[in-house]
Amino acid sequence: MLLPILSLFFWMALAAVVGGWLWGGLASVLAALLVAIVCFGSMAWKLQRLERWLAGPDLNSDVLWRGLWLEIAQRMQRLIKQRDKQVAVHQQRLQHFLQAIQASPNGVTLLDEQGRIEWFNDTAAAHLGLDIRRDLLQHVVHLVRDPVFSRYFAQDQHDVEVVIEGRSVSVAHNVKLSVQLHTYGEGRQLLLTRDITSVALADAMRRDFVANVSHEIRTPLTVLSGFVETLQSIPLSEAERQRYLDLMAVQASRMQSLVADLLTLSQLEGSLPPGMSEKVSVQELMAQVASDAHSLSAVLSGQDGEQRGCVHELLFDTAPPWVLLGVRSELLSAISNLVSNAVRYTPAGGTIRVAWTRDAEQVILSVSDTGAGIAPEHLPRLSERFYRVDRSRSRETGGTGLGLAITKHVAQRHGGELRIESQVGKGSTFSLVLPTSRLQPQA
Ligand code: ADP
Repeated sequence: MLLPILSLFFWMALAAVVGGWLWGGLASVLAALLVAIVCFGSMAWKLQRLERWLAGPDLNSDVLWRGLWLEIAQRMQRLIKQRDKQVAVHQQRLQHFLQAIQASPNGVTLLDEQGRIEWFNDTAAAHLGLDIRRDLLQHVVHLVRDPVFSRYFAQDQHDVEVVIEGRSVSVAHNVKLSVQLHTYGEGRQLLLTRDITSVALADAMRRDFVANVSHEIRTPLTVLSGFVETLQSIPLSEAERQRYLDLMAVQASRMQSLVADLLTLSQLEGSLPPGMSEKVSVQELMAQVASDAHSLSAVLSGQDGEQRGCVHELLFDTAPPWVLLGVRSELLSAISNLVSNAVRYTPAGGTIRVAWTRDAEQVILSVSDTGAGIAPEHLPRLSERFYRVDRSRSRETGGTGLGLAITKHVAQRHGGELRIESQVGKGSTFSLVLPTSRLQPQA
């Protein structure tokens, strides 16, 4: 910096000396002033160019930069480049940060000190029905119109989360949101939302299940304790005693079946999906199922006291020589449930047909009966636990209300499904459908 000032003084002095020598005293002052004006003018011009150049610096395109100006320009260019790099790094970090919040399965909404919405991720938009073009800088209480939320927002402390109704995608689907406010910075707030619909649903299902199990166990237990009391308090003849004991045995076996089915369900839920190593012979399976079906039909025929043997026409198509890759006990239980249901819900004299078919993608075991059939409104709920259409028939024949739930579970665990077709008055067909990947021709 010193050099240009010295050079300015040098040129002013030189101009004053030359001016004074040529034209006298006043000329020397004027010459020095002229040199100063030219120098400052040139400086101002260069500063203006520098200012314009800073807007889009390209030093190489400007051949006029020289000496000190070139140095200043180069330093500034370096500083600008450094600053640009830092800005780019910060912008990239901000982008990553926003992308991470976007990827969050929870809704995140940033509120300013007044509770106005500054930013929100897509999940929050879906949870609360927000629109980025419409709702920015709107007060959150005006948009989340839920009295529970309004009260919660008005509180000073937000230590616990509250549950509110979210925006539902469909009318049939009620969304439950868990909402919590967290304060950060100077009075700003972070609004976190979490979709807990499935958790709430699972909770309700668990409560229903416990209530159902208690009810199912209480009924035979009440009957049993009633008989025990009678046996203890009233003197009975040997025949009466035997009759009571038989009735007690029926209730006990009902409870046993229920506990066995509950255990099967919990095992299905708690174990890993079936592998492909266990080989199950379809012919062996069907031999056992057919024998059980004949016995069950005979037992049911004897319920009125008169034993008549098998009272259904049981048609088992010749079992194909196939091997299924899956868990034998599970497949046996699924197929037995379908066949025993057909026997239990088909009146004496009816026909039950069991057949295996396959196409390129599926292996299908179908169990058709000529029973009373099932009205269409019951079909979607049939495989729910404890759902029964014919409650008294189920009880009379020792049903637990869990058979189809087990069958559906087994089918799904093996990569298949349970299909139900039925027509009232004509009968039903229950099919266990498995993928052909589980089929292996018998060696
Ligand atoms: P349950 O032990 O009561 O038979 P399931 O889960 O096996 O329980 O069946 C659920 C309900 O579906 C039964 O209570 C019955 O009302 C109905 N159902 C099942 N199979 C048949 C069938 N083949 N024909 C008519 N109704 C059936």
